[in-house]
Amino acid sequence: MTNRQELIVKNVDANKQMILDAERWLWAHPQTGYTEWEANAYLTEKFEALGYELTQAGNIPGFITDIDTGKPGPFLCIMGELDALDIANHPESVNGMTHCCGHHGQVAALLGIAAALKQPGALDGLCGKIRLMAVPAEEMIQLEFREGLRQQGIIKYNGGKVEFMHRGFFDGIDISMMVHGGSNGDDIDFRCGVGNNGCMAKTIKFKGKSSHAGGAPHLGVNAQYAAMLGLQAVNDLRETFQEKDTIRFHPIMMGVNCAVNIIPDEMKIESYVRGRTLEAIKRENKKVNRALTGAALALGAGVELCDRPGYAPEYHDPAYMKLVEQCCKDLVGEDRVAFDYNAWSTGSSDFGDLTCVMPGVQFNASGATGTGHGINYYITDANRLCVNSAKAQLFVTDALLSNDAAAAKEIIANYKPLYNSIPEYLKAIDEISLDKDAVVYDENGNATVDFQNI
Ligand SMILES: [Zn+2]
Ligand SMILES: [Zn+2]
Repeated sequence: MTNRQELIVKNVDANKQMILDAERWLWAHPQTGYTEWEANAYLTEKFEALGYELTQAGNIPGFITDIDTGKPGPFLCIMGELDALDIANHPESVNGMTHCCGHHGQVAALLGIAAALKQPGALDGLCGKIRLMAVPAEEMIQLEFREGLRQQGIIKYNGGKVEFMHRGFFDGIDISMMVHGGSNGDDIDFRCGVGNNGCMAKTIKFKGKSSHAGGAPHLGVNAQYAAMLGLQAVNDLRETFQEKDTIRFHPIMMGVNCAVNIIPDEMKIESYVRGRTLEAIKRENKKVNRALTGAALALGAGVELCDRPGYAPEYHDPAYMKLVEQCCKDLVGEDRVAFDYNAWSTGSSDFGDLTCVMPGVQFNASGATGTGHGINYYITDANRLCVNSAKAQLFVTDALLSNDAAAAKEIIANYKPLYNSIPEYLKAIDEISLDKDAVVYDENGNATVDFQNI
């Protein structure tokens, strides 16, 4: 370890108890995306007590604060996510929610980073600026609730980071970083792959006609059956998805809103279409929508298709990954770090939206156990999850911004983003939005189908 790295370790360890306390408090107060007000209030109080001035998102949870080294240089953004998941069967769920993706550990680490950067000498030798950001709503869930927020004009996008891009919170940022928690076993402390799938969000509403299920089913149109047929049709399409595109479609039926003796007149489905490129996602989604439309037509039902931008595929710049890998090795040792420059994950994150316009690395810190998004997910070692990740992120910050930010400047200069600017990126994903009543019948029972934007 260098002298600077030893100082960082000391500065984080000086705040260790605060980090561990935050992890426990936040675990006990889970809230889902765009409702994380308790975590927001807790962190606001802690950040302000450290002397930070915050800019709040305001009508949604989340905030930013900037640290200026006083010398010109690149602008680095370090993030922590606020949101939990609906998973009522988790033994420690609170109001049906749990942090079973470990996001609370990210913001506990972010608080540790904030505290460490206030210690004497923390900014010595650095240039540029650092933005610390508590960001809401990474998990793409509760699509109907978010559509309601969108229609009220509160948000424009389902994902917190892309919403923050839209709000200008990433304007001027040159490079970004985040650490996600995970369960990588006892032997590995930090893990990273080269990227992961993007996704789009779908809400699908099959529309039938209610009638007496025993006495007069012939007067009804069963929306549940139409939905089941639609999903069967998409399942039959799966063999046409090509491996190179790593497509995922994982619908859930949202349930009926009527009694057992009524032919259900409505069945909602939420799903994503995920894939390795936005082009592949758009291409395969057309087939999905066609299949759903055909199923509705087969049963004489209707179907409303609502597609919204999700997250872009996430790509980690290998040169930046190399720098992060070295920092992790400096902290915990060579053999406890597993960076794979070919590994591609089929999950998605709105961190991918950032890597469309700037270099970014999201790596993974151990300390959890069980299955992510599962009822057996727990934090077993908050020291590894939060304290270690705060140290690692500050090592990376130091490596990027010291020495006149030579490393950051080189990474930024060589990075070839898919889009030249945030507005250009947002324009591209806005084209994903689709609202169609896909099957319209005339008085003779003939139908017109329309399931794509053309
Ligand atoms: Zn998750
Ligand atoms: Zn997550």
